[in-house]
Amino acid sequence: MPASPMLISRGRVLDVDGDLDRPAVSDIFIENGHIVAVGADAAKAAVQRAEVTKIDAGDKLVIPGLINAHYHSHDTMLRGLFEQLPLDAWMLYSGPGNYSRPSPSRIGLRTMLGAAECLLNGITTVQDMPAMSQADHDQINAIVAAYEQSGIRVVLAPQISDRAPVECVPYWRGLPAASDPLLANGVNVRDYKTLIEERVGSVDMARLSWAIGPSGPQRCTDDLLSWTAAVARRHGLQIFTHLYEARSQAVLARQLYPQGSLLDHLAKFGLLGPHLTVAHGVWISRQEIERFGAAGANVVCNPISNLKLLNGFAPVVEYAKAGANIALGCDNCSGNDAQNMFQAMKAFALMWGMYSGAGEEGAARSAYKAATIGGARALKKADEIGLVRPGYRADLVLINLTDTAYRPLNSAVKQLVFGESGKGVDTVIVDGRVVVEKSRLTTISEAELHRSAEAWRAELSVESMRVSKRNEGFLRDILAAYEEANRYPIEFDRFLLRQQ
Ligand SMILES: [Zn+2]
Repeated sequence: MPASPMLISRGRVLDVDGDLDRPAVSDIFIENGHIVAVGADAAKAAVQRAEVTKIDAGDKLVIPGLINAHYHSHDTMLRGLFEQLPLDAWMLYSGPGNYSRPSPSRIGLRTMLGAAECLLNGITTVQDMPAMSQADHDQINAIVAAYEQSGIRVVLAPQISDRAPVECVPYWRGLPAASDPLLANGVNVRDYKTLIEERVGSVDMARLSWAIGPSGPQRCTDDLLSWTAAVARRHGLQIFTHLYEARSQAVLARQLYPQGSLLDHLAKFGLLGPHLTVAHGVWISRQEIERFGAAGANVVCNPISNLKLLNGFAPVVEYAKAGANIALGCDNCSGNDAQNMFQAMKAFALMWGMYSGAGEEGAARSAYKAATIGGARALKKADEIGLVRPGYRADLVLINLTDTAYRPLNSAVKQLVFGESGKGVDTVIVDGRVVVEKSRLTTISEAELHRSAEAWRAELSVESMRVSKRNEGFLRDILAAYEEANRYPIEFDRFLLRQQ
């Protein structure tokens, strides 16, 4: 049932093309989940309706709901467990294949846990790439049901790959760890492909869109990449994948692929274009960025995860100069470990500043743009979300301007990007429905969610100890392979933010 019409009055609406410092005070009228009017027309439109929910935003900053354009819901239970592990080693601890297969209700719980954190931090749309432990409709149904109940908007792309991990990371072959079935064996994806093909054409809930999620070009056989291109074309779907997250992936590209390029490999299958959204794009060459931008492709920068998993700094300004669309994400819960776009925006803006010339302006605006309309474009939703304008979906966040972060209010965008932690998020609206009110979820019981998560944690901690014990025997070799890949010569360095 659609929410009743709503008038949000007297808020300062932060439009990316408007006054970013002292945004104009405006009213917003919402009906049938859409923004109908912004400004003087809003109150007039509201007068003509019988039942209108009224929200006084007199001391609020109104922004479009933030878009977390790269995220995985499968490891929300593992937050806070790891530190200082490079990507390839971290996967030995965090991958769902390490743990016993959860029941659908637990899959629902872990999905809800992440959705709750997103909403409370002002994220109204999330692009989720969950790893699936089984090609099973019940698993997908549990994820969809959790998103439905939470009230968040989601672009769902179950992650799929079929090559053995040992083939995807340089210098892993021949290591004692490589004989472990978890690393030595690829996955037969026949049933996964059938499952995904059955789902992508369906309408599961109004706020859910399907997409295709090959895990990474190096993790997929040619057959799987061909299938990806065909299914995406047939259903008009966006393709989400990881590209050049770690230095080791640039090394693998040079060792394994004829042109030494993972981007070239994607292009061979027709996967390079506006329909492609890659996460990370850290260890990409200047020539590849030019090609990427010219193709109109999208990159999702995950600055916090890139630092925590020791991957370095994405060349964000080079992407922008090449014409690529830039979005922002938070990535895994065990590799960040927060679903907080304010942290992501701040890290992005700081990087942007370091890459730009001294005295230049625009770092905060670039971060805000990436977290809103940049994300919308990367999710193929540029005409639906990411702006507070008539015709767009009513996905809005009201932020308390009474917080000390905004006193005095010199620049809304700079204080939002550099000063907001998330505690200022007061009200969150998705599709015209209030899902967070006075910083509390209206759709689910937070206390119940926390109790269930703690109960599961007790069981999981036994499993994570077992995983740690097993990895003790592998870690030295895996880290040695990581160091060997680091010594392989590459013509640029993404561990440095600015080079002399
Ligand atoms: Zn990821």
